[in-house]
Amino acid sequence: MFDHSRRNLAHWFALSMGGILFAFAGVGYCLNVEDQLRFFDEELFAQSKSFASKTQYMLGQNQRAQTPSEKDVPLNGGLLYARWYNADKQLVHYIGSSGAKQLTAEPGFQTLQERSLVEYTETFWTRQVTIPVLQNKELIGYFQAAASLESLRSRLNQARLFLALGVPITFGVIGITGWVLGGLAMRPTRRAYQQLQRFTADASHELRTPVATVLSNAQVALIPPEDPLEQRLRLQKIAETAKSMSTLINNLLFLSRHDGPLAETILKPIDLSELLRSLAAEFAAQATAQSLNFSTQIPEQPVIVHADANLLKQAIINLLSNALKYTPAQGKVQLRLFTQSHRAVIQVEDNGIGIPASDLPYIFDRFYRVDTVRSRQTGGFGLGLAIAQQIVQAHHGQISVKSMLAQGSTFQIELPLKI
Ligand code: ADP
Repeated sequence: MFDHSRRNLAHWFALSMGGILFAFAGVGYCLNVEDQLRFFDEELFAQSKSFASKTQYMLGQNQRAQTPSEKDVPLNGGLLYARWYNADKQLVHYIGSSGAKQLTAEPGFQTLQERSLVEYTETFWTRQVTIPVLQNKELIGYFQAAASLESLRSRLNQARLFLALGVPITFGVIGITGWVLGGLAMRPTRRAYQQLQRFTADASHELRTPVATVLSNAQVALIPPEDPLEQRLRLQKIAETAKSMSTLINNLLFLSRHDGPLAETILKPIDLSELLRSLAAEFAAQATAQSLNFSTQIPEQPVIVHADANLLKQAIINLLSNALKYTPAQGKVQLRLFTQSHRAVIQVEDNGIGIPASDLPYIFDRFYRVDTVRSRQTGGFGLGLAIAQQIVQAHHGQISVKSMLAQGSTFQIELPLKI
């Protein structure tokens, strides 16, 4: 699916960019031809005009005996011939080749194909200009000159060769770029899709077992009971499983709803000291019930951060519940708050069972549990830390863990202080 989309992206990119490239190359070439020809014509016209005015005496009433020679009209300047016609268009004089006795061309420019004098079969292109010669605003004749277009043609041939090689190479580069860009563009979508697929697979896998439990217990409970107590136990099991399924569904909904950074408008200044003190009061009773030694280190003065109080509370609750869950009786759990260079730091430390080093990199992944046995005993789905991380990151903060197996764990949340 992704390869197909990538191919499509590359295809359309290459087609659109290639189209633009071909259009630019074509227009550029035409403009270049037009430009060079205009420049050529201007030079030929300027040269011919200057020769025509220099040799005007050839055509006037009082014609002198002397005729212009190659000294007056040097053909080595690029001209192939120069011809003088009188007002009746009769050839009067020429240098180079004579051409027809009668002027047939209209004043202006013409492009002509000539035969080479050396190798008669070869032809070459010339540009001819015919200009009327005036004296006292009266037409006294015509001057005609021509120059070879061969140098211009070879320049244009070079330009064509450059385009013939350059355009396909550039087109190839565009195709490769399209393929690479297509890959880069598809990467986030591919990652999001894989994440979604894994998440859906994990969620369905987690729900399958409790649904099977509910179903089997319900089927047995539907049979007329021999022992009413047995039926009650089955119904109790259904209720318990449904409760845990409801927790799982709530957690999943939570994760899907609170993705990405939180909008600034819903963040409020929160006193972390106060928030942690109220949480500590809630957890102290639970810790005592589990024979745990629960202590706090919370500063008296307010520590203000910009946060959504309920979400932040949820993240800290998840860390505290884990600490209580994974610390055996007589163990110690400590909740600390302090500030460190523009950051508020919350630490939840326990001396419980700890986490193996090999599991630490994955501990914040969704549905990751160190070993299913200990989580099954405590009823966890492996979503608590993923939720805590998502909340902390949504507040532009960081969450980290240090842990040693059988020695305990310290989870730390860092949040930017409100300045
Ligand atoms: P769960 O709901 O399974 O506890 P969590 O995402 O909260 O899921 O935690 C993931 C795993 O990390 C747990 O399965 C547990 O093995 C391990 N863990 C989390 N907190 C602690 C802790 N304080 N001490 C030891 N292990 C922990």
